[in-house]
Amino acid sequence: MARRAIVAANWKMNGDLALVDTMISGLTNVKLQDDVSVVICPSSPYLSEFVAKRNSNNLSSVIHVGAQNVSEHQSGAYTGQISTKMLQELSVEFVIIGHSERRRYYQETSTQVAHKVNAVLNAGLTPIICIGESETERATEQTEAVLASQLQPVIDEIGIEKFIDVVIAYEPVWAIGTGKTASNEMAQETHKFIRQFLAKANESVANKVPLLYGGSVNSSNCEELFAQPDIDGGLIGGASLQVEQFKIICSAAKGK
Ligand code: PEP
Repeated sequence: MARRAIVAANWKMNGDLALVDTMISGLTNVKLQDDVSVVICPSSPYLSEFVAKRNSNNLSSVIHVGAQNVSEHQSGAYTGQISTKMLQELSVEFVIIGHSERRRYYQETSTQVAHKVNAVLNAGLTPIICIGESETERATEQTEAVLASQLQPVIDEIGIEKFIDVVIAYEPVWAIGTGKTASNEMAQETHKFIRQFLAKANESVANKVPLLYGGSVNSSNCEELFAQPDIDGGLIGGASLQVEQFKIICSAAKGK
């Protein structure tokens, strides 16, 4: 079984042109272990600049570029939205779908997430599907039911076989941007549940899907989290804005 590791940076609505420069030059000498992909997801206005600077620094084999969201529609009267075709034209390869901030502030449902995943796969891009439970759901032992309810609509929409081209990020909502990280044991146990849930539909596909942990990952806790058997890297928010810290996180990931 060979599963690549992925470290993805979610800049959210942060960063500027200066950070594009600092990140590109900082990553020129990043040390990566085997089978690791680094994905940077800046805000949309910086995608084009990021790709251009990455290419002119000959870093396209080291750094991949992702968007933070996309429309499920192909084109048309959807003011403010961005299509998969537009992302393709900019050489974007990955798209974060269903981040908890989009579910919470923009009322994205798991059905809409499933439609977006379908659109992304049809365009030949790789979705990073975010799932995770709230603090109350964890406290009331609903975590597994919540994760299943977020995954099932995607399985129903695209079919389990297509998960071979999907990345899943497990991000407990209570750990995002709070400094509260899931313990190594809790994170592993939940990633294992996700893999087993997928395995009920297709075991060989489930064993190949990269599962990322997200939620207050930093340069001190990344190594132990990434060493867990079902954790294949991370989706990093706050720490991805600090180049030196992000490089340490990238170096801790390893394919399994
Ligand atoms: C995120 O927003 O996906 C995230 C994991 O943020 P942070 O690392 O800041 O908790």
